Amino acid sequence: MNAIIIRNGRVIDPANKRDEVGDIYIADGKLVASEPELRNAKSEIEEIDARGLIVAPGLIDMHVHLREPGFSHKETIESGARAAAAGGFTTVVCMPNTAPVCDNPGTIAWIKDRASTVSCVSVLPTGAISKNLAGEELAPIGSLAQAGVVAITDDGHCIQNHEVMRRAIEYARMVGVPVLDHCQDYNLVGNGVVHEGYWSTLLGLPGWPAAGEEAIVMRNILLAELCDHHVHCQHISTAGSVRLLREARARGVKISGEVCPHHIALTDDAIQNFDTNYKMNPPLRSQNHVEALLEGIADGTLSILCSDHAPHANCEKEVEFDAAPFGIIGLETELGLFLDLLVHKHRTIDIARLIEMYTIEPARLLKIDAGTLSISARADVTLIDPELEWTVQVGQFHSASRNSPFDGWKLKGRAVRTIVAGDTVWKL
Ligand SMILES: [Zn+2]
Repeated sequence: MNAIIIRNGRVIDPANKRDEVGDIYIADGKLVASEPELRNAKSEIEEIDARGLIVAPGLIDMHVHLREPGFSHKETIESGARAAAAGGFTTVVCMPNTAPVCDNPGTIAWIKDRASTVSCVSVLPTGAISKNLAGEELAPIGSLAQAGVVAITDDGHCIQNHEVMRRAIEYARMVGVPVLDHCQDYNLVGNGVVHEGYWSTLLGLPGWPAAGEEAIVMRNILLAELCDHHVHCQHISTAGSVRLLREARARGVKISGEVCPHHIALTDDAIQNFDTNYKMNPPLRSQNHVEALLEGIADGTLSILCSDHAPHANCEKEVEFDAAPFGIIGLETELGLFLDLLVHKHRTIDIARLIEMYTIEPARLLKIDAGTLSISARADVTLIDPELEWTVQVGQFHSASRNSPFDGWKLKGRAVRTIVAGDTVWKL
């Protein structure tokens, strides 16, 4: 088995409160405490010079769509995993809106089996909350938990019936998995495709009001409190949601929120050319919402970073704005965008907090054994060059899809090597 010494990097391991220049040692796929232990490993020792680099626990993206089974023309578990590795991620959590839907243990077993043969990173499946994501009848949450889902969610859909959602949270508490929710009130949002405001009015596109998200964030806070169980609100995009989460978290409610890079990198004025690579759900919002998200990240209200990596084939996105599917790919740009925007440009948080939001925060929420550089933990490590300036070239991405609005963007900071269980799975 392999043995590696990573020398002289700035080791940032928030779980162990470590932030110092030093070395880390890997033998037989695990982190070990010292160099002598490496000498026991029989093979050659690889030395990596990490001067000027950050040595972080392998990053976790807890919100990606790998599209398999059912939509392998958009992405496969294999191509999505390679995109994850190239973005610096060693663990991804995949969403259940596949075909068949992940509402049964058989589909979960298929994904785990497929990932174990073709994926270069860890793939952790989620299960659906409701059968066929229809929001009416609960999926077999206990069987899904037994099959190994790390959470339940109807991502892409949102359960409108509060009683059904309450039962889902109660079952999730019994089996010990968190509930993730895509917050969208269908009555308020209707057929909205862009943020309801100046640009939706000017362009004549149906509006998706901020209140359509906030109503469900409020509902989730009430139910998390009622059921005393964790509900995590996915891809938060509005100022009101941040305010609601801040107040509830201060009272100790088990509620949290995540943020995607496009919601802070872009505003709704990007939609004026009708480019469908700016069509997301929830939609790009106006500048006041972006500023509220930044404040929420700065004060810890929004505690997790993720991509909502949503691959679509070119032919699906090359249609009129109303008809195009929502979403963009994100695994290969998210770290660069967040480093560039949060750490360098806006100075919202420092790099140690950014790593925390990509490692121990999602690991704690999902109760998974990842996101640390603890001795004897699996050697998942991401090396990051925080100062590296690079240009996004979507044509060279590992993802099977190309739907990104960030082609040509110049960013500062990116992953340069991704190590999973002691194996380098990607290197710049
Ligand atoms: Zn999603």
